[in-house]
Amino acid sequence: MNQEKWEKAVAFHGHSCPGLAIGFRAVEAAEKALGVSLFQGTDEEVVCVAENEACGIDAIMYLTDCTPGKGNFLFRLRGKQAFSFFIRDGKSVRVVLKPKSGEMTREEWQEELLTKPVGELFEVKKPHYEVPERARIFENQLCATCGESTMELMLRIEEGKTLCLDCVKSYDRGF
Ligand SMILES: [Zn+2]
Ligand SMILES: [Zn+2]
Repeated sequence: MNQEKWEKAVAFHGHSCPGLAIGFRAVEAAEKALGVSLFQGTDEEVVCVAENEACGIDAIMYLTDCTPGKGNFLFRLRGKQAFSFFIRDGKSVRVVLKPKSGEMTREEWQEELLTKPVGELFEVKKPHYEVPERARIFENQLCATCGESTMELMLRIEEGKTLCLDCVKSYDRGF
C-alpha cells in the first residue's frame, strides 16, 4: 500500500480510521480487478456507487475521479461495505468487504485493513444493478410558499400550488 497516498487521504478526511482504510483498500481491490486506474483525470468516465455513507467514501473521492458534485459518485444505501465501480467503456466491478475474522481492537482492525492483501479483504463481484445514467440538468421553478428556486423534479403540487418539499404538508398515514 502507498503510504504517501494514505497520509493524503487521512488529511483529506480529517482523521485516520478503519472506515477510511476500507474505502482506501476498496479502490485498490477494484483497480486490481478492472486492470485500470480509477483516477483518470476525466469527468464522468468512472462512476462509483457506494452502498453506505461512512468514512470510506472520503478515501474513494480522494483517490478516484468520482465526487457527488460531478454526478459520478452515487449512493445506493444498503448499509453494506460494498462499492461498485463502472467504467463508461462497459467494465464494472462490485467489491464487498469480507466479514471481520474475529474480535479485535479498532487499532488491530485498522492495521489488518491496511496491510492484508486486498484479495483477503474483499470479495470481487459483478454489480447487480446497471450503471446510473449521466447527470441530467433539470429546469427550476419558484416554490409558491418560500419563493426559493427549486429543481422541477423535487416540486410537488398541493391545492394547485407548486411547492418545495420543505413547504408541502406531509401526508403519511403509516404506509
Ligand atoms: Zn473516519
Ligand atoms: Zn418552499
